[in-house]
Amino acid sequence: MENSTPQVVTIAGSDSGGGAGIQADLKTFQARHVFGMSIVIALTAQNTLGVQASYPIPCSFIDAQFASLAADFAIKASKTGMLADSEHVAAVVKNLQTYDFGPLVVDPVMIAKGGHPLLTEDAIQLIKEELLPLATIVTPNLPEAEVLVGYEIETEADMQRAARDLQHLGVQHVVMKGGHKAGDESADYVLLADQTDFWLRTPRIATKNTHGTGDTFSSCIVAELAKGVPVKEAIITAKKFIQGAIQEGIFVGHGHGPTNHWA
Ligand code: PLP
Repeated sequence: MENSTPQVVTIAGSDSGGGAGIQADLKTFQARHVFGMSIVIALTAQNTLGVQASYPIPCSFIDAQFASLAADFAIKASKTGMLADSEHVAAVVKNLQTYDFGPLVVDPVMIAKGGHPLLTEDAIQLIKEELLPLATIVTPNLPEAEVLVGYEIETEADMQRAARDLQHLGVQHVVMKGGHKAGDESADYVLLADQTDFWLRTPRIATKNTHGTGDTFSSCIVAELAKGVPVKEAIITAKKFIQGAIQEGIFVGHGHGPTNHWA
């Protein structure tokens, strides 16, 4: 019976406002019935109006958190979110090479909705060269994908080309989230390792309750992978989960409210 519950970890930033980052990840893990843990990379002073301040945790303490979890738990899947800067990306890469935390979902978080940077520019190259080759799945939104591939993504053909280019960096599966595009429809493009691909098309939901959407989506994928669900099914389940969570938004705060993790 020992270690029979699926165990997962998020390696990310804390959102004091509870709607994004580690807090969204842990709420999603709970809702998806897996045991969630966290390795905190940075703290943010944040609410639904935006990020007021951020404070990266010393890298020696990142190492300490990895070592504590590796010494006791049977982690079956993991994700990265806010990684702050190149020094912290390097620390995370080193630890992920040391410990086996199962399939890795990289959510390449760069900027919060209000415009506050959650990653410094000098970290981008390291993410491309060192983190993506370790990743099972990468889940960029369009602005993040543009930074990673270095060109504008305007059409669906651009999305397909960019997904292939991301795969060339070493990641196995790509989920390119189209939610930032204008229009009545949100279209995500999925390119799997075996080169099969498909679109996840959903009607756009008119709401400002979208804080932490990306974190919730990638956490749901992690939870499903830890249960042994195949990659394609995990992605489809996560899409349904995030649709429900956006639809049933929670009304707290005065800005972009969080999604509803128990919808
Ligand atoms: N704050 C932290 C710590 C995050 O990890 C994220 C994740 O993307 C955000 C904020 C983003 O928030 P928003 O969805 O409002 O852009």
